[in-house]
Amino acid sequence: MDWMKVQQALDKSGFDPGPFDGIAGPKTKAALIQFQRSRKLSPDGIVGPLTHKALLTAGIGADNYESLHPETGLSRIIMHWTAGADGVNDLERSHYHVIVDRLGKVFMGALKPEANESCRNGQYAAHTRALNTGSIGVAMDAMAGAKERPFDPGKYPITEMQVTAFTSVIADLCETYKIPVTRQTVLTHAEVQPTLKIRQRNKWDITWLPGMDRPGTPLEVGDKLRGLIKAAAL
Ligand SMILES: [Zn+2]
Repeated sequence: MDWMKVQQALDKSGFDPGPFDGIAGPKTKAALIQFQRSRKLSPDGIVGPLTHKALLTAGIGADNYESLHPETGLSRIIMHWTAGADGVNDLERSHYHVIVDRLGKVFMGALKPEANESCRNGQYAAHTRALNTGSIGVAMDAMAGAKERPFDPGKYPITEMQVTAFTSVIADLCETYKIPVTRQTVLTHAEVQPTLKIRQRNKWDITWLPGMDRPGTPLEVGDKLRGLIKAAAL
């Protein structure tokens, strides 16, 4: 975050952030909160996506977008299940950046999300066919032995507490990497083909969640997860 740019934008909007020193001190924070109130944004003193957009339109200039929020090159999150049994193993850790087990415990993968900014050097987490560049892969460790038709969740079905931890860790990742929660940017593996038109091989993760008696359509389950992610971000 380039706070000097934030201070300049606040100043242009008529709020006094104090000197343009690039430090998020009390005066700058107070001006930011006043600015947020004036735009009907939640007055939290944090430059989240909505406040960021409002600051941009306050005259900061689109060409300065990158310096305000350095582009990480990570633009989407793909949600999976591992089709594994209990116990996060090294193979799973190499394929996903974050894994949540059935007790809701969060495990970091072997590689950081930044490894997928570019996949040219071969050091990246391979989780989605032809769509690993720019994609953070997050998985629920579950569904070993599950069958789509006739539906059988197997011995390791996704659990409620797993979904809660999974959606809350994704909300955090969205905030960290400035990824908006939309159908194009936070989506299940099963949605990649219908939504982004990138062919996958019969992937049905994630089309079933606890409480459903059979898998739903990719979009309806994706929307449900996005709803939970948005709620977790509040
Ligand atoms: Zn998958």
